[in-house]
Amino acid sequence: MEWEQTLSMIKPDGVARGLIGEVIRRFEAHGLKIRALKMVHLPLDQARAFYAVHKERPFYVSLTHFMSSGPIVAMILAGENAIQVNRDLMGATDYRQAAPGTIRADFARDVEQNLVHGSDSPESAQAEIAFFFNELERV
Ligand code: UDP
Ligand code: MG
Repeated sequence: MEWEQTLSMIKPDGVARGLIGEVIRRFEAHGLKIRALKMVHLPLDQARAFYAVHKERPFYVSLTHFMSSGPIVAMILAGENAIQVNRDLMGATDYRQAAPGTIRADFARDVEQNLVHGSDSPESAQAEIAFFFNELERV
């Protein structure tokens, strides 16, 4: 077990559908600590930069437009194995394959508009946290 930090986003669909509180409730109920939090409406170029790792993928253009279509909530979650704990709470990328009781299984109805983002490794967590939060914004 390792104490980790990870970057979570509630995507524009989750914000628009009034699910900020429900998503955060699940994180806190499973022991994840919020260490930073902000609402941001990403300009398209920033959405492109955030998802640059996917720039060759067929879904990149649509995904980046979706991610800049409305405000998102970005937060740093901390805890034992926080990266995997968060991924487990999110469920699989495709909501149809997500385990029952996960955020995506319970709320997502679209592969792209799947409510939440979570870092997938310590390296991506570090880069994604730095993308959103400077030192002063992290407790
Ligand atoms: N995505 C999509 N179609 C796909 C795969 C991914 O629209 O076939 C979107 C979806 O919003 C996903 C995001 O692209 O959350 C990033 O994809 P990734 O494979 O990193 O999934 P995640 O890490 O979010 O589970
Ligand atoms: Mg990913």
